[in-house]
Amino acid sequence: MKKKNETEKVCRCGRITTDPENKTGLCPTCEKKAVNLLGAAAMAATGIAIKIVSQMKENGPKVVEGVINIIKNL
Ligand SMILES: [Zn+2]
Repeated sequence: MKKKNETEKVCRCGRITTDPENKTGLCPTCEKKAVNLLGAAAMAATGIAIKIVSQMKENGPKVVEGVINIIKNL
């Protein structure tokens, strides 16, 4: 086994990235996918925020505790 390069990271798809500037450890292909996922996550977060706001309107400040639980479980 050759010594492991410290900047070497194995991407979740199995590709090895050796770019020391790469903070994510993802190869460029997966980085693009991750950006798309972040976009999807942002959409999901918006949906959750809308649910939270509508719940707060229905149930008042008591629901804040429930909201904290939702966030913890994300
Ligand atoms: Zn990858």
